[in-house]
Formats: sequence, C-alpha cells, structure tokens
Amino acid sequence: MSIHVLPDDVIAQIAAGEVVERPASVVKELIENALDAGASAVDVMTEKGGRQTIRVADNGTGIKADEAALSITRHATSKLHSIDDLINIQTLGFRGEALSSIAAVSKMSITTRHQDEAAGTFLVLEGSRILKQQAVGAPSGTVVTVEHLFFNTPARLKFLKKETTEKRQISSLVTRYAMAYPRVRFRLEQDGREAFSSIGSGQISDVIMRVLGLDKFRQMIEVSGEDTIRETGQRIGVYGFTSMPDYNRADRSQITLFVNGRWIQDTSLTYAVTQAYHTFLMTGRHPVTILLLDIPPEEVDVNVHPTKAEVRFRDPNIIFAAVQRAVRRAVIEYAETPLLRSSRQPLTTDTFDDHTSRWHSGIDSHNAEQLDIAWELDSPGNYSHQHQTGHDEIYNPGMILDSSNAPLKPRTLPALRVVGQVGAMYIVAEGPVGMYLVDQHAAHERILYEQFMDAQQRKAHITQHTLEVQTIDLSPAEANLIEENLTTLRAVGFEIEPFGVNTFVIRGVPAILANTDPVEVLEEVLDDLATGQAPGQTSIEERIIIHVCKRAAVKAGQILSLDEMQALMRQLERCESPHTCPHGRPTMLHLSSDHLAREFGRK
Ligand code: ADP
Ligand code: MG
Repeated sequence: MSIHVLPDDVIAQIAAGEVVERPASVVKELIENALDAGASAVDVMTEKGGRQTIRVADNGTGIKADEAALSITRHATSKLHSIDDLINIQTLGFRGEALSSIAAVSKMSITTRHQDEAAGTFLVLEGSRILKQQAVGAPSGTVVTVEHLFFNTPARLKFLKKETTEKRQISSLVTRYAMAYPRVRFRLEQDGREAFSSIGSGQISDVIMRVLGLDKFRQMIEVSGEDTIRETGQRIGVYGFTSMPDYNRADRSQITLFVNGRWIQDTSLTYAVTQAYHTFLMTGRHPVTILLLDIPPEEVDVNVHPTKAEVRFRDPNIIFAAVQRAVRRAVIEYAETPLLRSSRQPLTTDTFDDHTSRWHSGIDSHNAEQLDIAWELDSPGNYSHQHQTGHDEIYNPGMILDSSNAPLKPRTLPALRVVGQVGAMYIVAEGPVGMYLVDQHAAHERILYEQFMDAQQRKAHITQHTLEVQTIDLSPAEANLIEENLTTLRAVGFEIEPFGVNTFVIRGVPAILANTDPVEVLEEVLDDLATGQAPGQTSIEERIIIHVCKRAAVKAGQILSLDEMQALMRQLERCESPHTCPHGRPTMLHLSSDHLAREFGRK
C-alpha cells in the first residue's frame, strides 16, 4: 500500500491524541514502524536518556523516494485506507501520526531506501520543516534519527524525568518488544554502551534469559494455553513465561502483556495473572510475567487510545478467563511436581557452581525451602535444622549479642525481664507496670536500624568484604538502577563495581549482612527501589538501610535462647524509638497491670 493522507472522515474516527510524551514514546513508535516494515533487525541507540539522540535503524522494506516527504505529513499512512480496514488491522501503526508528531518537536533526519529502488533518500527536518532532501546510497531499510527532542517545547522538556529514569524506561521498552518479537534481532546501545541485545532465534526463552539474566530465568515457568470462543469456534492463544511463586515483586510493573503483537496496559488482565497465583503468593505481591496473546482481530478494538496502549475486547470475560486459566495451570503444574522441578533445571554445570556454591545451588535450596514449609507449620523443633540447610542466611546468634561499641544511650523503656518465647515469633517480657509482647523481628529491625544510622553518622567502618568476589547479572533496567544509586549503595557499605554489560562485582556488603547472600540482598534492594518513590518519602539511602536491617534481623520462626532474648530486650530498651520498626509497624504490645486486672475482673 502506498503512503497517502487519510480522508477527513477516517481521521475523525480514529482516537487522536498525544503520542510523543517522552523519549520512550518516540522509541516505541519508531520500533513499531520498523516492525510494521517487516524488519528482522532493529537497532536502537540513545544518548542522554534519549534527550540528545534517539536513533532507530531497521532492515525493513524502506520508504519509496517519492513518498519519503509524505511520510512525515500528519495523517499520512500506508497502513489504512478506510475505517473498515480498522476492524482487521494487522499492523501496529495505522494513524499516520507518529513521524509527523516526532518531527514537530525535534530535529529529525531519515535515511531510507525502499527494497525495490536503487537509490535511497536522505531527509533533514527541523520542527516539521524540511531543510534538505537528497538522494543517497543506503542499504534497504530505514534509519530515523531524532535529536534534541522537545527543543522547541521547553515546557515539555521541563517535565522530563531524570536522565537515568528515561534510560530505564527505554531499556525496559526495548527488552519487552524483544521478548514479544523473538524472531527479530534487537540491539540497544545507551550512551555508547551496549545495554541489551537479542539474537533473533525465534525462541522467547532465549530473549528472556538475556533480559532477566540466567538466575532469574531459571525461576520462570512456561505458560501455554488455548481456549476456543464458543460461538465462533475461534482460538485464543496464551503463550509466555511467568515466575515461580517465590520470585515475585511488590508491584505489577513486571507483568507484560502483548495482544496480537501489541504491548497493552490492561488492569483487568493484569489482575487475571496475579489472580492465577491465588494462595501461592502473598497478597500485595505480583509475579514477573510476559504473555503473548493471540486473539482473532475482530475480538479486539485497537482504536481506543492515542498511544494504542489500551485495547477493548468484544468480550473481556473470555480473554480474562483464558489468561487466568493458562497461568493457573502452569503455576499448579509447577507446584505439584516438586521432583520434576529439579529436572527442569538443567543448569547445574560446573560453570555455575562457582557462582552459587556458597549458598548451595539456587534450585536445590529452593526445593529445600519449599519442602520445609510443612516442617515449619507443625514441627517447630526443626527450625534450627531448617536454618542450617535453608538457603537463607544461617542465623548467627552472635548478631543479637553483638553490642555496638557506641556509648550507652539513655533508656527509653523500663528494664524488661524476659519470660519466654511464643510461637518462635514473640518474646513475652515483664516490666514494672505490666506485660509486654514483643515482635522479635520488628524489634531487631529497630535495633539494627538505629545502630546502622549511628555508625553511619560516626562514619564508622561498616563494610564487610566478601570472601569470594560475587558477580551479579542484571537486566538492563536493573543495571541502570544500580548505576543510578551507586554512590548511595557505597555510602551504606556495599562495594560494587561495574563489570561488563549489565554485570557487577560485589566485593563487600554492609557488615551486618556478613552472613547473608549478597546477590539476593542486592536483588531485593533493587526490587524495592524499582517500585519508585513518592515525593516526601524517606531518602533512597534510608530505604536501602531499612531494607538491609530487615534482611539482617532475626526472622519470625527462629527459636531464640534466653541469652539472645535478653540481649535483644537490653538493646531495645535504649532505642530512640523502641515502639515501632523502621517501617512504622509496632514492635510491641503492652498490657498494663491495670488493664490485666480489669480484664480478669479484679478491679
Ligand atoms: P503509521 O505507522 O501510523 O502509518 P507513522 O507516522 O508512524 O504512521 O508512519 C507514516 C508512514 O511512514 C507509515 O505508514 C509507513 O508507510 C512509513 N514508515 C514509517 N517508518 C517506516 C519504516 N521504519 N520503514 C518503512 N516505512 C516506514
Ligand atoms: Mg507508526
């Protein structure tokens, strides 16, 4: 189909609006154009989070010389003729708005050669004006370069997020498209450094492995489901990967859905995915998921949102059920076959032993932990056993007894006498005016937090060098996040250095984490940081510290000796804010003597 300007009646019916909100939206539109042009390789390059430069090069069909100028005209498209075509639209674009909108707010150039033509075209534009057009030699395909985005709209420029945030948005966008189009070779270069590449093997697993890193990929389960729509007999396909229940996140941002090759945001379908984990995941936790839905085009209306990020389903319930069923089946199958699980993980070769042996191989300990859940519920006597074999930190009782060498602080609680432990979770203590029930984990978090903050202020040495240098492989988005927060992480005692593409070496951790798996801690911290931060909330540094303390604190479920409990109480008695943990939850309940007397009818 040749490029033409859409007739007014069609324009009137397509969902119009702003498509260029930020650098990532430019990248999205250009990638979609490349995919629509049938490219098998898409190369994305950005500088300064896309503010300075965005370049997307593809090896697709290219644009004919006599249509090049038209392509940047508003509502010029080769993908749609009449409104009827919309019902069966097979391309990602159809409005002819992207190139013109991007051209309007940037300095853009296009080099393109149509596969059937001998010469290519070179176009230079500035804020929609064509400054130059000439014939050039070029390989078949298209290269669009967008520079100085929003140079003529200072208001929008002002609203752009930090450069690192934009960078992260772009890498998470590119990796998502790479997962949805495994046949296409994607490459992303940010500020001269390759952040991501896929090989175009056609296997989605190959891409996910590169996006999540090998360790995380081993925790993904394949999803494959098919439903038929009863009335029409047509097929709905659900295919992709979703995380094992233990690998989860605090937000839904890692649930990615593509419908017929289109990345969509859909609250209800996202919910269907989380729903499928019912009883496998704690409320408030969400899996990491990529699902590609294959739905008859007439079941989906794509013309509802300017950036095409939302779609409307003719019958949303059918789609919801198909997604939920497919994911549920995968999760249950995984959960019901603990023995199979290890055989599904072929990666116990020597190469990876180096990396994991310190904490067992990731998968074995995972199984151990799963099986121990039953122990934990009805056989508390086995806790100590569990904590020696589990992959979690081996609890070091010295940790509570370890009094910091800081000067003794004033008392904030009366002297408390330990009576005993309840449920391996609470310490019962007695004070001058009643009884205290103390949450051992919350209380220890509070103690460690205040010690940590003290040490931090005194600039006391807080790094513990790891015996072996650990490396951590991350997704491009996580790698950006680490880089963004490297100074802060170092300030709290992590010794981390970049080590090749998306890999870092960990040489040291905050001293109180001496007995924990540094990779795991760091992953959790990243997870936490990725959920973003509302203005006015605690600083990033404090958030990291809070997390570190949570990790280092004794867990619920750990039997404590009398000495340990007494040490814990002695330290809590001198905390500045002994009544709450750093997250703000209570550390203790106090039942006053008066209250007890009243309850027992003695008063
Ligand atoms: P749309 O994608 O909605 O048609 P765009 O403004 O994104 O609108 O692009 C306008 C037209 O320019 C497209 O219809 C297509 O014909 C052509 N075009 C844009 N980018 C490419 C590309 N990378 N390769 C080939 N043709 C392209
Ligand atoms: Mg387009």
